[in-house]
Amino acid sequence: MIERIHDIYRPADERVRDFNEVEVRLAPEQVREQMLRCHNCGVPFCHGAGCPLGNVIPDFNSAAADGDWLTAWRILSETSFFPEFTCRICPALCEGACCNGVNDDPVMVRQCEKVIVETAFENGWVKPVVPAVRNGKRIAVVGSGPSGLYAAEALNRAGFGVKVFEANHKPGGLLRYGIPDFKLDKRVIDRRISLMRQAGIEFQTDCRIGLDVAGQYLLRNYDAVVLATGTPCARDLNIPGRDLDGVHFALEFLQGQNRVNDGELRTLPVNAKGKRVLIIGGGDTGSDCAGTAIRQGAASVKQVEIMPMPPETRSKSTPWPAWPWMLRTSSSHKEGCEREWNVASDRFLGENGVLTGVEVHSVKWETTSEGKPLKPVAVENSTRVIEADLILLAMGFSGADPKGPAADLQLKFTPRNGLIADPEHHVYTVGDCTTGASLVVRAMADAKKTVQEIIRDLA
Ligand SMILES: Cc1cc2nc3c(=O)[nH]c(=O)nc-3n(C[C@H](O)[C@H](O)[C@H](O)COP(=O)(O)OP(=O)(O)OC[C@H]3O[C@@H](n4cnc5c(N)ncnc54)[C@H](O)[C@@H]3O)c2cc1C
Repeated sequence: MIERIHDIYRPADERVRDFNEVEVRLAPEQVREQMLRCHNCGVPFCHGAGCPLGNVIPDFNSAAADGDWLTAWRILSETSFFPEFTCRICPALCEGACCNGVNDDPVMVRQCEKVIVETAFENGWVKPVVPAVRNGKRIAVVGSGPSGLYAAEALNRAGFGVKVFEANHKPGGLLRYGIPDFKLDKRVIDRRISLMRQAGIEFQTDCRIGLDVAGQYLLRNYDAVVLATGTPCARDLNIPGRDLDGVHFALEFLQGQNRVNDGELRTLPVNAKGKRVLIIGGGDTGSDCAGTAIRQGAASVKQVEIMPMPPETRSKSTPWPAWPWMLRTSSSHKEGCEREWNVASDRFLGENGVLTGVEVHSVKWETTSEGKPLKPVAVENSTRVIEADLILLAMGFSGADPKGPAADLQLKFTPRNGLIADPEHHVYTVGDCTTGASLVVRAMADAKKTVQEIIRDLA
């Protein structure tokens, strides 16, 4: 029986000394063998229930098993325009839905995707897609994260003239400025942007719509405007001591490191070197902070979360083929990050305006019969202090920016602060700004779906 390969990382003591990608690329022979684990199911849940892009996973797995990388690439690239991003950073919803997962490890689809796309690049199979005919219509895309890039590529392929406006110095959104280099090498983004430019897509960076250029100006000068502006507003923790020196948002910290790595900044705006780092928020952003703090030379790194520790295996509340709620231990956690659950923060502590720690208490969770946490209850006499010189707030994002283009274009918001499109006036919204903070693959899938609406509306 062929078992799934689990160790796909560079050794921890080596990788913490640099910001290069932590995952290795499997050899084609290893992937060929792994793909023999795929049953090419009659009803492929990986494709139907798992992948938001609708990747035809069993078919490219089969081609990979045969070592037919060109066919595998053709199948993959038909449904996914940027598999080089997802193969590095997607949590692989497809693997959560893989039939093998019922009683065994799922097929390693993401690693297969990586070998397919990187083989395609190496062989020159990935080419700029220039439309055969231009339809004479022009579309402005605001924001160049994965959803904006996906919309731009899809619209360009459909024959529209596309210009992407981006507030940052370089395109990529959170791919470039949020996700650490050790998960996604930024040369992977540059390589894609270069192809997009060759295909005729224009990029205007350092341009904030709503400030440098009005949203109304875009509406007057383009046939449609696509907002792909993400969710820049991070959730804050407004407890006493919030203004102490040493409490920062996770993105401030992560962005700083990525900009230094890229040469955009010379010094780190927030530096963890020699500090006791506490990350509040137990999700992926927090895990990225841990890996970054460890590489910066933090004295210690701890991550706390108010929610209970997830079960080691799939929770009954998320039965297959749903994405499993279960404990996830990232490569960063394994590099030296201590974790605690059921921790609620009460007040930041400091001396002379400088952070020294946080007072916390423990909570117990009332749960459903399936183990799903419902309500936290404070545990008596559990108040204690966690000492820290740097606290990073990684508690998610509160929705789209109410200012800027959303205000200019008088867009309405959902109850959860997502932008509502206004197709009547040819204003569309894609990605996190409309769905709420999510995943790269979902942001791209949302753009894919919306582009179909745009094509229909502007026909
Ligand atoms: C630290 C971190 C790590 C993550 N890791 C992962 C991961 O490993 N895997 C995964 O699948 N997802 C991950 N995510 C989530 C993922 O990055 C997002 O879901 C995804 O980037 C959303 O894409 P988007 O295009 O909607 O928005 P964004 O990527 O946020 O891009 C929005 C862009 O719009 C620009 N913009 C905003 N306003 C304006 C304006 N007025 N004018 C011009 N430009 C503007 C911004 O500068 C930005 O470039 C992570 C998120 C964070 C914060």
